[in-house]
Amino acid sequence: MSLNDKREELERKAHAYVGKDSGIEVGPDPVNEVMIRQLCEVINDQNPVYVDDAAAKANGFDGIITPPAALQMWTMPGARPPWDLTDEEKEIVGNRQSISKDVELNALFAEYGYTGVVGTDQEEEYIRPVRPGEKITAHLFIDHISEQKATALGLGYFITVRRVYKNQDGEEVATSTFRVLRYQAPAQPAAQAADAPQASAKPKRLKPPMGHDNSWWWDAVENDQFLIQSCKSCNTLRHPPRPMCGKCQSLDWEGVEASGNGTIYSYTVMHHPKFPGFDYPFVTAVIELEEGTRIVSNVVDCDPLAVHVGMPVELTIQKPDGELKLPLFRPVA
Ligand SMILES: [Zn+2]
Repeated sequence: MSLNDKREELERKAHAYVGKDSGIEVGPDPVNEVMIRQLCEVINDQNPVYVDDAAAKANGFDGIITPPAALQMWTMPGARPPWDLTDEEKEIVGNRQSISKDVELNALFAEYGYTGVVGTDQEEEYIRPVRPGEKITAHLFIDHISEQKATALGLGYFITVRRVYKNQDGEEVATSTFRVLRYQAPAQPAAQAADAPQASAKPKRLKPPMGHDNSWWWDAVENDQFLIQSCKSCNTLRHPPRPMCGKCQSLDWEGVEASGNGTIYSYTVMHHPKFPGFDYPFVTAVIELEEGTRIVSNVVDCDPLAVHVGMPVELTIQKPDGELKLPLFRPVA
């Protein structure tokens, strides 16, 4: 089959998904206080409306609510996705839904060589706050598949998936549209790869999303500065950068210089899956800075197996792929 025929075949099969009901996603648990509190602890979100009933009521809610931006968490399948479960296990966890069409569609693109995938943008609309006890389900629709596009990552297609979040009574609580690029990573000719110098053979890392609310922080890193956002009204520190103080709701802030000293609060050693631009294994850690905020980064310049919780670390700004400056951490000598 010619390349053109193959492309037409893929596009015909893929377009059959557009505009159709594409299944649902259900997590194992209803919205609950314990998971909300754990989530807020992990991301260090101190907004009391998520954990304190009285504070939530004082702010006009009926009681604590779940962070809106984390709504999808309640529809995620857990550590083992449903398509990995045996029939017997499916029987036991009967509330987990079977495979959604979104997964099927992505498998189709992979089958035709579009194995690369990267999220490009997301829009969310929150209709009303969601409270403990509600069972949230995401209803999926494949809204749009673009024409084939030539992108910096390779030839690919943009796929827009809309999720309508409903509670157990079928009441809509939020919607989101999520767009991914499915791309064909350009093959590296073997001869060229063998001859090319090591530095240029190593792929660049994907750049972190930078926008209105956080580009100032990355600009500082580019100038070898390591800043923490500080509320100008109550001096509460926060990270990652965001427009509003979670404590006093002030929109006035400034960046203050951090010492770069901290300890490892939690970490994981990454072996798999292998993303381009990283040397494996490597350590991803939550660093508790001495100023009190936490940051997710990598621990470098040491044996990954030597890393432990409580380990003192210090900042080292490096360019791991020779291009993008990143604030990394290494053990204190
Ligand atoms: Zn404040």
